[in-house]
Amino acid sequence: MTRCYIGLGANLGEAQSVLLAAAGQLEDAAGTGTFRLSPLYRSAPVDASGPDYVNAVAEFDTALDAHALLSMLQRIEQAHGRERPYRNAPRTLDLDLLLYGDWHIDDPDLTVPHPRMHQRAFVLRPLADLAPGLKLAQGTLPDLIAACADQAITRIPDDPRR
Ligand code: ATP
Ligand code: CA
Ligand code: CA
Repeated sequence: MTRCYIGLGANLGEAQSVLLAAAGQLEDAAGTGTFRLSPLYRSAPVDASGPDYVNAVAEFDTALDAHALLSMLQRIEQAHGRERPYRNAPRTLDLDLLLYGDWHIDDPDLTVPHPRMHQRAFVLRPLADLAPGLKLAQGTLPDLIAACADQAITRIPDDPRR
């Protein structure tokens, strides 16, 4: 089994419900064992247009290889009506493979660790909630978070009903 971290984002329609539904699908697919979803965050789009994003990170162990995991993420995106009309378009659901164990993958369709995660507060903040001691090649999470302090992001208060 390999410990993986998935970045979840949504900014169209009922973004929060879509995100929680996708998290449920990931949890089902992960099977038994550890599954943790970070708190939810609201962030302004970076290099993109449209309404604010809802973001979170999921952590679980998987028996899938990295490419099979990416395919599964894309199937879940499709199930929520993901379209790619243009780069950085608003989207119903975006699932990015952030980390896959300590693997480094550089394939045409898959780069791991995700090449832009270290500069995104909406990835780093929820990731630090789950795994505060994690280190990326670019630095520790607190240092990387401090470096993107200019990015507007707020934690969504926990909903006691979920
Ligand atoms: P960004 O990657 O900057 O967050 P994005 O999520 O909007 O941008 P997408 O349109 O969702 O980009 O994905 C474009 C392509 O990125 C996908 O077709 C996929 O093959 C590729 N890709 C490469 N590495 C990864 C990864 N670690 N996780 C998800 N997709 C990846
Ligand atoms: Ca993305
Ligand atoms: Ca993506």
